Amino acid sequence: MKNNRQRFIMDLERLNRFNSQGCPACGRKFSLGDPVVVACGAWEGGAKVVHENEAVLDYSTGQYVERRCYAARSGAV
Ligand SMILES: [Zn+2]
Repeated sequence: MKNNRQRFIMDLERLNRFNSQGCPACGRKFSLGDPVVVACGAWEGGAKVVHENEAVLDYSTGQYVERRCYAARSGAV
């Protein structure tokens, strides 16, 4: 697997940027040093930053998808 540029570690700058809304997958705030990914999900507004363990990498698109959304999607097809 290639090193993915959609995955990164929360630093102070990003923390300030993203913690106004928190994590759209679990509703909690991010912590410094959390591994996070840019993922698509059932929320509005396209891809957002979520905790890494709340998203799965969809190998067909190379994009992270929020877990519940991914499960719903693969169940529907
Ligand atoms: Zn989260």
